[in-house]
Amino acid sequence: MTEHLLKILIVGDGNVGKSSFVNRYVSGQFNRTYKMTVGVDFAVKLLNWSDEEKVRLQLWDIAGQERFISMTRIYYKGAVGCIVMFDISSSSSFLSCRLWKQDLDHKAMLPNGDPIPCILVANKCDLAERAVSADTIDRFSRDNGFFTWMEASVKENKNIGEAMRRLVQEIFSVH
Ligand code: GDP
Repeated sequence: MTEHLLKILIVGDGNVGKSSFVNRYVSGQFNRTYKMTVGVDFAVKLLNWSDEEKVRLQLWDIAGQERFISMTRIYYKGAVGCIVMFDISSSSSFLSCRLWKQDLDHKAMLPNGDPIPCILVANKCDLAERAVSADTIDRFSRDNGFFTWMEASVKENKNIGEAMRRLVQEIFSVH
């Protein structure tokens, strides 16, 4: 049995649902530590990936940031994957995704210099008021180097595990 430790970042403006996402995903096995030095939380989730492989996911969530700020390099160190999240009812949180992704690409990369795999998650898709169309998200996702994007609702438990599985799959495919 091999165990892989994967550090995954979750970035995006405040109030888009990052900590709700992490809480929902790790559910019972919640292991939250406040890291005062870098101002982030991380939680741990164990996945039985296959008969021979276990995955220990370390999910790093930025605490208490209302809008984009450039993050310290310590936060990005060793990260192998990232979720950039926005709230589908908030166009400003969508616009910030470009900055979050640029900051990520400057500070975290694979050993060969390529960007680390990053998925764009449009959260709160349970809400009727949509500020961004699927076409716009699709174009933005391709233009900014996300390997894919997904709608999700932490509230309705939609696409949480799916988004994480796609990300882990992509991480394994580039390593
Ligand atoms: P963070 O600042 O990005 O960590 O966001 P939070 O996880 O604190 O969530 C911000 C607010 O959005 C909270 O009131 C959540 O209950 C709410 N929220 C999170 N996910 C969803 C969702 O999928 N749908 C709806 N309608 N509300 C959500």
